[in-house]
Amino acid sequence: MSLPAQTATEVYDEAFRAGLRPDPLLTISEWADRYRRLSGKAAAEPGPWRTDRTPYLREIMDSLSPSAPVERVVFMKGSQIGGTECGNNWVGYVIHKSPGPMMVVQPTVELAKRNSKQRIDPLIEESDVLRELVKSPRSRDSGNTVLSKEFPGGVLVMTGANSAVGLRSMAVRYLFLDEIDAYPGDVDGEGDPINLAFARTRTFSRRKVFMVSTPLVTGLSRIEAAFAESDQRRYWVPCPHCGEFQVLRFDRLRWPKKEPQKAAYHCTACEQAIFNHQKNAMLARGEWRPATEGDGRTRGYHLSSLYSPVGWYSWERAADDWEKAQKDVERLKSFVNLVLGESWQERGDAPEWQPLYDRREDYQIGDRPARRPVPHRRRGRPAGPH
Ligand SMILES: [Zn+2]
Repeated sequence: MSLPAQTATEVYDEAFRAGLRPDPLLTISEWADRYRRLSGKAAAEPGPWRTDRTPYLREIMDSLSPSAPVERVVFMKGSQIGGTECGNNWVGYVIHKSPGPMMVVQPTVELAKRNSKQRIDPLIEESDVLRELVKSPRSRDSGNTVLSKEFPGGVLVMTGANSAVGLRSMAVRYLFLDEIDAYPGDVDGEGDPINLAFARTRTFSRRKVFMVSTPLVTGLSRIEAAFAESDQRRYWVPCPHCGEFQVLRFDRLRWPKKEPQKAAYHCTACEQAIFNHQKNAMLARGEWRPATEGDGRTRGYHLSSLYSPVGWYSWERAADDWEKAQKDVERLKSFVNLVLGESWQERGDAPEWQPLYDRREDYQIGDRPARRPVPHRRRGRPAGPH
């Protein structure tokens, strides 16, 4: 029945140490790899979360970890890169490892309710550790509703940027502002909803604010303004041929006209063609590099959909979407916002796409378009026929 004395002591010591030892300081990406499960209801790829699938999200998530000396994290992004999950993993981490008052703001209260049911509920229900900490709203006296989830040491409140009452509801240590370019400019006559939400974090010295959005209109874009105040990180990936690190740019994607299925990326250094299936290896070796110092407490990340992992949004799709968007300003605007993750410049009479479209030429994959000869003009002579 009894264990040998030595072993029993060891067992006791081990239990004693485990009880006293604080939880290892997991980063958010490590937490997600260990505890997060993607629900079949909400995710394209259900199952255990793997940060390796979207390696560019690792640093963004870890900037939200308590150990990171960052107060504000700004993420300006295209669609289909997994961006929303950064925020969800943060919510899960706060509930489990770093409890405190947290607020998640969507553009409207309606969207906040939808986000709660479609993303937050599955996040909690699919994770064993979170399910134990947050009581189901169906159980009596759970203290939980669609827009408010209590857990030991904290509470998660979800609201809309169109509700001044919601934004003023409580002091928060963690503030997640989602899709901020869709927020109204003024909420219930009380001013900017972002300022109203920021004001709730003032009492916390170790606060964290996460601002995420696809940018909309140049000059009005809140995410672009916040990114401009940051250290402006972009994701540099190496060419599989020559190893040169570069930021993926749409003008390096080339294809014969009307054949977007032949789209290939062309390295800025060696000009060789890179195909979509080679992307994951590039993403895995990529790194975020800041372009400037910023204000010292804000990290900014920009990522277009050209970085979407293999199997999600391909370069061929991007080429196809670009072709389909020609001569239709609304579609082109969506392309610029959602695929390039850039703001759309509204301009006078001539549509922005027209000069760009007119400059397009046909060329073979791998060829650089030849420079047009510059008309020769002798000095001192008037132009024109003599
Ligand atoms: Zn190269």
